[in-house]
Amino acid sequence: MHAIQVSHTGGPDVLEYVEVETPEAGEHDVVVKAHAIGVNYIDTYHREGAYPLPLPFTPGQEGAGEITQVGSAVEGWSVGDRVCWAMVAGSYAEYVRVPTDALNRIPESIDFSQAAAAMLQGLTAHYLATSVYPVGADTTAVVHAVAGGVGLLLTQMIRTKGGTVIGTTSSAQKAQRGLDAGAAHVIRYDEEPWAKRVDEITDGRGVDVVYDGVGKDTFEDSLGSLRPRGTLALYGAASGPVPPFDLQRLGGLGSLVVTRPTLGHFMADASERAWRTGELFAAIESGQLEVSVAATFPLADAAGGHRAIQSRDYSGKILLLP
Ligand code: NDP
Repeated sequence: MHAIQVSHTGGPDVLEYVEVETPEAGEHDVVVKAHAIGVNYIDTYHREGAYPLPLPFTPGQEGAGEITQVGSAVEGWSVGDRVCWAMVAGSYAEYVRVPTDALNRIPESIDFSQAAAAMLQGLTAHYLATSVYPVGADTTAVVHAVAGGVGLLLTQMIRTKGGTVIGTTSSAQKAQRGLDAGAAHVIRYDEEPWAKRVDEITDGRGVDVVYDGVGKDTFEDSLGSLRPRGTLALYGAASGPVPPFDLQRLGGLGSLVVTRPTLGHFMADASERAWRTGELFAAIESGQLEVSVAATFPLADAAGGHRAIQSRDYSGKILLLP
């Protein structure tokens, strides 16, 4: 089979399309023929060596496809089942070995591309809005990069719960995407001091929560945009990592809460994963949640997918198609 391999870290060109052994199912695994594979920011960190992995490795964390082989101890799964997964290393491949405890059944009305696109970013949006800061009808939230993969899904989820979203983004087209997803306001943070606008919009009160996947460029103003006892959920670093920070400052800024959550801790066991995935699929099936695929690239051109996600030119999910 073909897979993407990284034998030395670097730019998108280190993503090589190579021939490797097709995986065999272990006792508790299945093998899935992938139909759609998600590109995520973390894949670029692995490729660049910012989060080092032993070399060589196959990048990728999520996908969707059909089971072609079932391990001897596996119960409840059969060849031909339509499944999707998140947080399974080595997903940029035509066939992926997936442990049963990472498998989710895809509802009939959801296609492989939607399922793959919903996994990592959708589950992230879900834990941010339900568990990191449980959004309610009286919540006002800043969502940075509102037209991004997580941003569009998170905005829709907050709207469904009755909350108000103030989004930020870097182009007029993306601003419209944020408004279409349900943001009440979208601020062009490339054009104006966004925190000042948040202050005006909230009549100086500040917001309850800032969801910040941008990091270095937004962190300081994110703190300044919060109401007393507000929460900053720093869940990513698309603009670079936040420098070391003196916790003592949080008192003077209003007894703020700052958290740096990561998806693995919010899918701690099978029941939590099933709950989040179930709510995600139910929202897609009911039409409450639209999963938007921005672009697809052949698996062989994984480099194109990485350039796309790092370019800021796309709004929504980037997929690789084997
Ligand atoms: P996006 O589709 O949101 O892409 C990132 C966006 O960040 C860009 O589109 C851009 O939006 C914005 N951005 C701001 N500054 C920069 C910059 N200097 N370079 C590039 N982009 C920039 O990606 P995802 O939805 O996949 O991920 C969003 C964030 O969430 C990432 O930081 C990712 O690592 C993180 N993440 C964290 C998880 C967790 O559990 N902690 C899980 C999944 C993702 P704009 O043009 O509007 O500024």
